[in-house]
Amino acid sequence: MVIKPKFRGFICTTAHPAGCAHHVRQQIDYVKGQKPVQGPKNVLVVGASTGYGLASRITATFGSGARTIGVFFERPAANNRTATAGWYNTAAFEKEASEAGYYAKSINGDAFSNEIKQQTIDLIKQDLGQVDLVVYSLASPKRVDPETGEVYSSVIKPVGASYSNKTVDFHSAAVSDITIEPAAEQEIEHTIKVMGGEDWELWMDALKQAGVLAEGAVTVAYSYIGPEITHSIYKEGTIGLAKDHLEASAGRIREQLHDLAGRAFISVNKALVTQSSSAIPVVPLYISLLYKVMKEKNLHEGCIEQMYRLFAERLYADSTPVDDRGRIRIDDWEMREDVQQEVLALWERVDSENIKSISDIEGFRSEFFNLFGFEFPEIPYEAEAEPDVVIPSIPAAE
Ligand code: NAD
Repeated sequence: MVIKPKFRGFICTTAHPAGCAHHVRQQIDYVKGQKPVQGPKNVLVVGASTGYGLASRITATFGSGARTIGVFFERPAANNRTATAGWYNTAAFEKEASEAGYYAKSINGDAFSNEIKQQTIDLIKQDLGQVDLVVYSLASPKRVDPETGEVYSSVIKPVGASYSNKTVDFHSAAVSDITIEPAAEQEIEHTIKVMGGEDWELWMDALKQAGVLAEGAVTVAYSYIGPEITHSIYKEGTIGLAKDHLEASAGRIREQLHDLAGRAFISVNKALVTQSSSAIPVVPLYISLLYKVMKEKNLHEGCIEQMYRLFAERLYADSTPVDDRGRIRIDDWEMREDVQQEVLALWERVDSENIKSISDIEGFRSEFFNLFGFEFPEIPYEAEAEPDVVIPSIPAAE
């Protein structure tokens, strides 16, 4: 079939296999062009198919020669529907990894469930023995509690008071004002259940109990802080409270790993175009301005540049620099004073008339489509493409 993007707002319901493969190859090529990392050897990535998790997996494999197991929740092609981008990304990643001689296997299912945790442990035991790095990079709108079966949904809302600011429809480049009402108490609790650290702790507990964590094992989960203008919707909103919980989990996991001389970190990453960040109001406009400023200053990074820096200059450097709360900061360039001052000045001016000239809204838009394998000049989109692509390590019947 000829595969075109079909999108509504921040959701694209189609993905292009060759485009996704190209996107993955670009990231692999970036890492191969950097100095090797004296890093992990056996790695589990939870949330491994897109965004920061996929970039972590690529860095571990092609930067450090690691064997990886990736867990994610993606959909294969069926009944004339394409697979999801994460499915195609993983198919391409596994192919490239195996051609380069690296072990890579994947598990597709709900990472919040006990079954998927057990399946992962069994695979580690069978193939790797133990893992020395666990990357926790889930972003999900909902979570089923594995004990009670209760379904929790996360919301992106301010806490305490309503919040008004500018936002953008990145397809039409129309800037408008938006007011978001504050979250109800239950919505806050549910968001913490989904995006907080409870499930990360359950993973680390299960892995440790099963004896599959190596001496000196490292684990890392990702967070975001961002500037004052987004605080009400992010840092001080429902998602920020969930990230506070994630941070507290890092402390508990650190204690738990003490006898293995293990380490647990929160890495505060930069704001980037991913499937998750496109869904947050206000943030796409901020990212468009940020990209403009950071590109002009030659400081621009995507997921792969961020993850390479995390591995090479933080996690596996001689010592791991952290802030006063023990967090790794690879949002350091985003948060530089000169960058933030310029973004803020643009923020005050930006409207539908000037957005195309003073922001990188076009960069945001095209990166959004790149996430689904579209808008790469190298890909012949008018040609027939086979949507049914197999992930080598996942049985075709799944
Ligand atoms: P993403 O949407 O690109 O990736 C999410 C991953 O989670 C995918 O692999 C998906 O398959 C997997 N997943 C979702 N639900 C699952 C489930 N139930 N079971 C198994 N896998 C599941 O997201 P991202 O933007 O890369 O975010 C990853 C982490 O990085 C999040 O914690 C996010 O808050 C954080 N972060 C993101 C940004 C940003 O700007 N995008 C910035 C800083 C931190």
